[in-house]
Amino acid sequence: MGRYILKTDKGRPIARHIINGNSTLWGPMIEVFNPATGQIIGEVPVSLSWIDLEVLDKSARRAQECWYREVTEQEKELVFRAIIAKIEHHRGALARTMVLEAGKLWRWADAEVQETIDTLWHYHGELSRCYTHDGFTRCQMPDKNAFSILKPYGVVLGITPWNFPLAIPFWKMCGSLAGGNAIVLKTAEQTPFTAEIAVGLVLTSIYEVIDGDRRESLRGLVQLVHGKGETSGKLLLENLNYDKVAFTGSVETGKIVASTAGSRLKPCHLELGGHAAMVVLDDFDIDLAVAEAISANLGDSGQRCVSARVVFVQESKYREFVSKYLERARARVIGNPMDFSTEMGPLISKEQLQRVNGQVGKTIDQLNKGPVIGGFPTSPERLAAELGCGYYYEPTVFVDVPYGITAMDEEIFGPVMVINPLPGRNREEAFRNGVDLVNRSKYGLSNALLTNDRQLASRASWLFNTGLLYIGRGTTGAELNKYFGGVKNSGWGREGKGLDDWTQITQVYDDHHGKARMAQEGANEKVKKTISEARSPLEIEI
Ligand code: NAD
Repeated sequence: MGRYILKTDKGRPIARHIINGNSTLWGPMIEVFNPATGQIIGEVPVSLSWIDLEVLDKSARRAQECWYREVTEQEKELVFRAIIAKIEHHRGALARTMVLEAGKLWRWADAEVQETIDTLWHYHGELSRCYTHDGFTRCQMPDKNAFSILKPYGVVLGITPWNFPLAIPFWKMCGSLAGGNAIVLKTAEQTPFTAEIAVGLVLTSIYEVIDGDRRESLRGLVQLVHGKGETSGKLLLENLNYDKVAFTGSVETGKIVASTAGSRLKPCHLELGGHAAMVVLDDFDIDLAVAEAISANLGDSGQRCVSARVVFVQESKYREFVSKYLERARARVIGNPMDFSTEMGPLISKEQLQRVNGQVGKTIDQLNKGPVIGGFPTSPERLAAELGCGYYYEPTVFVDVPYGITAMDEEIFGPVMVINPLPGRNREEAFRNGVDLVNRSKYGLSNALLTNDRQLASRASWLFNTGLLYIGRGTTGAELNKYFGGVKNSGWGREGKGLDDWTQITQVYDDHHGKARMAQEGANEKVKKTISEARSPLEIEI
């Protein structure tokens, strides 16, 4: 595994692109920080050269041809199983790398490794259904068969964020490879080392299973480019000869990705930001609702696309909910994620800390009142004394915030929650108001309804305009063999289940009849008669 992580002359680890199986470097470097301490832990290149881009292009094409046409399904399954074995073997090291560069708590980092293993097993299963899709179907005419085949796009460009530095690159690698594609990954500049280990493990698994000339051809099957969005990301998006883009990140970058790919007529799917809402009705256990909301808002310090940003609580239970929520949020143990007793770690970077603080400041100005708790970075004295100048933000709670205010309209990617009363003379009315309020958001990734009323729960699945709906729990906790994705500003397409987003369909008609014919063509005499007897509206005087 150490093969891909080299050191600078200062003894710092240095992240390198992996192009056609080789580690390469080009141009200036930027520093990578441990968000828990603010210390530099390594360096990463800002961009890549035009020569590298050419090699990327050619080797991805050659590898994709070989993977699709010359590697058997059994061999592909062996590759997936080899990757799983390597991840199991390096489980601790992978989790530790995520703690160091992404500031994840141990338990969340380990859960992410498990999520990755689950994803690999899921796509291992999908390999067996890759080529036939819906089997043979009956045709309208005799002596004719029809069947559809799933085929790869070719080369996928995968662009990924820092908040799930292992799981998200693996969603994209697994889907791409199971669908018969090659992939070029551009991962986040804040978390380069997890990505590099991941791609290293995939490549060594391929080399282990496949030998000879095919091994040489497959060197470009999975390639990794580091660097900033505006340099490496832009260069790839505008110039790489890809067939599809799979993007996960913010709405702002999603718009750039969609318009650039669109101008080149390349399909893309987008997993974007969210503003997840929970609706709590009066029949639900309030302690459980509070526990779910705390976990959905403060898990990973609020840096999940599905993190709960607002809770609408039915009026009769509102005060009780707020007081219990504040008590638990205040008691949260903030600290270094390396420490097992820590309950909330840092934000990813200084820039992210400033961004969250800026959005909280805007909310305060617009409301003309502050939050009930928090609203500022963890104090500099405490940071220096205990936490070593990391990027920590206090759990922050606003109450009674309408749409039109930053905390309700924008995704604040940090531990910031809004708690609003949900009006309604009875549960039915509160439920309908809850649906309307949630559907007013411009986002639609993950939302939740907390009630024990089975009838309302059943109606909710039809009424909420959302990609994911949780009933009876908070907005987080997706399983990676189910559909994942959003509607409205939260994105296009679904990842995480099956091959739909990673393959395209060829519909085949196999006609043995031996005569020229068309399914819709009627008997000649009958057609002549109906047309000659009919009057066209053009011939009728009105
Ligand atoms: P981001 O949009 O800033 O960056 C995502 C990736 O895009 C990075 O690799 C970045 O370098 C690259 N990028 C940036 N500008 C680019 C450009 N002009 N051209 C090409 N690439 C460019 O997002 P982030 O801050 O890394 O991640 C946080 C965001 O991701 C949040 O909004 C979060 O909700 C979202 N997210 C969504 C999901 C989902 O599945 N819906 C999952 C995780 C994160």
